[in-house]
Amino acid sequence: MPAMPSEVPSTDVPSARESPAGDAAESNTGRKFPCPGCGAKLDFDPGQRALNCPYCGYAEQIDPSAEAVRERDWEEYWKNADSRGATIEGRSSEVQCKACAAVVLLEDKVVTDKCPYCGNDLENKPVSAESMILPEGILPFKVDLKRAKNAFRQWVAERWFAPSDLRHLADLGQLNGIYVPFWTFDSMTYSHYTGQRGDNYQEMETYVDHETSSVPDGRGNMVMQTRPVTKTRMVTRIRWTPASGEVDHFFDDVLVCASKSIPSDLLAELGPWDLQNCEPFQPQFLAGFQTERYTVDLKPGFEVARSIMDGEIRSLCCADIGGDHQQLHSVQTQHAAITFKHVLQPVWLAPYRYRDKLYRIAVNARTGELVGTRPYSFWKIGLTILFVLAIIGFVLLFASAVRSAPVASLLSFPVSDFIRPLNFGFFSAVGQFSA
Ligand SMILES: [Zn+2]
Ligand SMILES: [Zn+2]
Repeated sequence: MPAMPSEVPSTDVPSARESPAGDAAESNTGRKFPCPGCGAKLDFDPGQRALNCPYCGYAEQIDPSAEAVRERDWEEYWKNADSRGATIEGRSSEVQCKACAAVVLLEDKVVTDKCPYCGNDLENKPVSAESMILPEGILPFKVDLKRAKNAFRQWVAERWFAPSDLRHLADLGQLNGIYVPFWTFDSMTYSHYTGQRGDNYQEMETYVDHETSSVPDGRGNMVMQTRPVTKTRMVTRIRWTPASGEVDHFFDDVLVCASKSIPSDLLAELGPWDLQNCEPFQPQFLAGFQTERYTVDLKPGFEVARSIMDGEIRSLCCADIGGDHQQLHSVQTQHAAITFKHVLQPVWLAPYRYRDKLYRIAVNARTGELVGTRPYSFWKIGLTILFVLAIIGFVLLFASAVRSAPVASLLSFPVSDFIRPLNFGFFSAVGQFSA
């Protein structure tokens, strides 16, 4: 980390904020935030919330914008469909990964040769960035590389039965900082539902049971005899009655990932995101980080949001019906006052391959939350099973020798209680083991 400069050049500092974002669409030249001290490229430093020069130490604070993040009106957007596209300044070209189809927006004059999502070589030729809906909001990187690497190392160290290569990967710390595109949708919903309400009630029921007893057979012997007996019992039944009604609900910031290159289960675990801290987009926040262009378009994005809202509306309808059980036959929902925005959210990603299978480790660069998929070392697991079996065998042998009892009777002996501490100690040992 370069030290803060003692002298910050104050004259003719080119401000990246002096031109409105729309200009980039016309000029298509982009901008790369040159250092006013030495001309080198400035990168965004999450720790200082500033554009930093790695060579001369120049730092330029990025002030929080006074404006609020703008939501776009859905109806208005589709009416003015011609004027909606632009490119992000400083990202005038893009390249699509052949392997995972991610579209990486390339930072001007910065060479990117690997896909940040899957780690494959970017074989396609970069092309001019297509115009797109510009981001309205951004959650800037907050967790820096050092903190992400530490989280990564700790995670790897805590994985039992991980192949040793995983440790190497952690040592290398191959983490890519990437802004992942998301859509958020707001919608006022009005739903009409029909269904049934089920209320429990108790009822006395008669039933026939069979009882067996021994009775004398008249010749001085007792014999077993089974006869039917009528009995009663309380049972719970459901009384169904028709139900219908209206449910209104306002949805705020329903979040949909606009990238197809991060598995959805991994993404779900990365959340929640502090969307309330979302800032108006400024291209400076992207400097030095990868950015993906959304591959889930606005309309398919809204369909995903709609299915999320539908699920919640169904629960609201059930709550409205009340009773002990509910059935919904139909739910008709109208959406009004839909607004949306394109938001970039920061993730540290480490894609890695083990025996030709792709695994990923991701760190939420706002909260430091780490999630990942990992391979298992089968020989480590196998060796452990053998070791545990050997201990069980030893314990059985030992116990049988001490009690000189048949081994079969020892099966009722609480072996598991005896073994657990040994077992646990061994697992811990494996966790530290590296071959
Ligand atoms: Zn400099
Ligand atoms: Zn890829």
